[in-house]
Amino acid sequence: MKTCLLCHTSFSPPFGWAAFTGIGYKEPMLCHTCEGLFHRITHISCPVCGRDEEVLPHHVKQKNVWTNWQSPKLPDAACADCRQWADNPRAACVMNRSLYTYHEGMKDVMATYKYRGDATLATLFTKDLAKLARQSGADLFTTIPLAEDRLWERGFNQATLLSGALPLTLLLTRNGVTSGKQSKRTKGERLAHLENAFQLIAEPPELTGKTVCIIDDIYTTGATVRTAAKLLLAAGAKAVLSTTLIRA
Ligand SMILES: [Zn+2]
Ligand SMILES: [Zn+2]
Repeated sequence: MKTCLLCHTSFSPPFGWAAFTGIGYKEPMLCHTCEGLFHRITHISCPVCGRDEEVLPHHVKQKNVWTNWQSPKLPDAACADCRQWADNPRAACVMNRSLYTYHEGMKDVMATYKYRGDATLATLFTKDLAKLARQSGADLFTTIPLAEDRLWERGFNQATLLSGALPLTLLLTRNGVTSGKQSKRTKGERLAHLENAFQLIAEPPELTGKTVCIIDDIYTTGATVRTAAKLLLAAGAKAVLSTTLIRA
């Protein structure tokens, strides 16, 4: 018998479990019910932001893998959100790939993970997330810094934990502003706030010609990574990508 990492009930893993779920590797870590909370993104409808839902009825989805596209010109299949972003001078274009969709079950998992401080849950995802990030071919991996007040509240940066064994390079810091609740702001307010929220560290490593991949827990509107990407591109980076656990 094993104890489920998420709900803490006992379960006996059926034969062939690890190969079947894709979560848990050699040892299953979740019971069958909890395993069902995770919906892996296998195919995506937007090659830029990595969303998986149908945009148009006849839309052809592609496999959830990185594509070579890095130019500012958007690919034809880019979604309406990505097109809107392309016209926004406050943000830069970022190709994103994520592991899981965001639905009710996943919201509970994230609540447990982020707010109850159950950092051991990160071990469920670190290998897959690192694998996806490495497949991007990026030269450097980094995370979005949490505001001081959030870090204090939570005691850990979820993105740093999720990165597992990926070598992270510190590139960005928060300006000394408190975060407030991003979710209570309009898109315009969020962007204006985000624009002032980050800065490059005092002596960053050479970024010229480098592709940087930002690791984060969730891609919702893309505002955070796209704002951060602008700074990194201005500092000489060739391209900025993001890899997240969830695509909301
Ligand atoms: Zn469970
Ligand atoms: Zn998109």
